Amino acid sequence: MDTSFSAEELAFRDEVRAFFAGAYDEELQGRLTSRDPAVYKQAIIDWQKRLYQQGWIAPGWPQEYGGTGWDATRSFIYETERASAGIRDVIPFGLKMVGPVIYTFGTQEQKERFLPPILNSDEWWCQGYSEPGSGSDLASLKTRAEVDGDDYIVNGAKIWTSYAQFSDWIFCLVRTSSEGKKQEGITFLLIDMSSPGIKVNPIESIDGHHSLNEVEFNNVRVPMSNRIGEQDKGWTYAKALLAHERTAIAGVADSKRGFAQIRELAAQEVNGGTALLADPLFQKRLSDVEIDLMALEFTELRVLASVASGGAPGAESSLLKIKGTELQQAVQELYMDLAAYYQGLLPSDLDPDQVGHAFGDQARRSYMYGRAATIYGGSNEVQKNIIAKAVLGL
Ligand SMILES: Cc1cc2nc3c(=O)[nH]c(=O)nc-3n(C[C@H](O)[C@H](O)[C@H](O)COP(=O)(O)OP(=O)(O)OC[C@H]3O[C@@H](n4cnc5c(N)ncnc54)[C@H](O)[C@@H]3O)c2cc1C
Repeated sequence: MDTSFSAEELAFRDEVRAFFAGAYDEELQGRLTSRDPAVYKQAIIDWQKRLYQQGWIAPGWPQEYGGTGWDATRSFIYETERASAGIRDVIPFGLKMVGPVIYTFGTQEQKERFLPPILNSDEWWCQGYSEPGSGSDLASLKTRAEVDGDDYIVNGAKIWTSYAQFSDWIFCLVRTSSEGKKQEGITFLLIDMSSPGIKVNPIESIDGHHSLNEVEFNNVRVPMSNRIGEQDKGWTYAKALLAHERTAIAGVADSKRGFAQIRELAAQEVNGGTALLADPLFQKRLSDVEIDLMALEFTELRVLASVASGGAPGAESSLLKIKGTELQQAVQELYMDLAAYYQGLLPSDLDPDQVGHAFGDQARRSYMYGRAATIYGGSNEVQKNIIAKAVLGL
């Protein structure tokens, strides 16, 4: 594909840039870094509502359901501008995961009920796939749903459920049959988090943050009208969602921004010390990461182009996931080295504005949370198995 921009595309880039500069204001940015969960959640909703009002909340959706209708180049420009301006991506569970499943496999009633509040962020979703004992081997899941009149009765537990504590709805894979292959008895349900019998237990992660949870289901009643597609066929819908999820996880534009910041900061000479950029070993590591980032960017463009022309991301999304998350971690490691190097050069009366201090804490937190990126969305080892089977035919 042609990656040089036309005059219209450059005008589009300027429009996106101007919108971000005005709408992602300092007041909002302050609230987005709040440690108060209620303030943080509301700030995310407020930002997503601004994007919704602008018509840009769901670039990946077909236009008839509220998407932007952008081609691959415009999607790429948008994503690059978002990341270079340091703007957080949208929460993916509604917009990038269950939304595409609902518009692809849901009934007309489900589309009308669920898509509008996903688009305008009035309803927050979480993902109930993993269970204690069923992560990589997801199809071994044991949470059961039994038919009772027009309802299912759900019993079991999900784990590592990100942001369950904020969520109005959870999309869940549940077992409706133990006959035949384990993939064949799974059903995809949309469950109201305020249903009696649901309990959310927090799990604090190593970065000191609470985003993870265990979700228990004790005789939770779910109307059959909340089932996506056919009973026992949920694996098909679940797999389609995972491909969208993996493409979104790659985060190439965000890694590029982190990389550019590192290069800029590493050029600084602090307190009479030498800039870290003068170190040839550091320079070599920077170059290795930069080359890999460029290569990955072109792979992402190819996947975007195929999605924009009506295709769905396939096994290539596993490749993007592996390389994208490895590069995120490489960038986070460079950040840690940078923070360590400049903190060592600072005098004891620490100047909080000095390089090293401004991002030391942030570097440590993102490094620690970043260890999870090669695990969530399906671990990288498992993605390699998928590539071996689906791409290389081994
Ligand atoms: C921060 C974070 C957020 C998450 N958010 C969610 C969420 O919102 N919703 C949700 O449903 N899940 C979520 N997960 C769960 C995530 O999808 C699982 O952790 C992941 O699928 C791995 O499963 P597991 O933890 O059970 O590890 P296991 O499956 O027990 O794997 C353990 C190790 O064995 C390796 N391994 C396993 N099988 C194979 C194999 N066949 N070949 C080679 N190696 C193998 C794995 O790569 C891994 O290194 C989240 C996880 C994390 C860390």
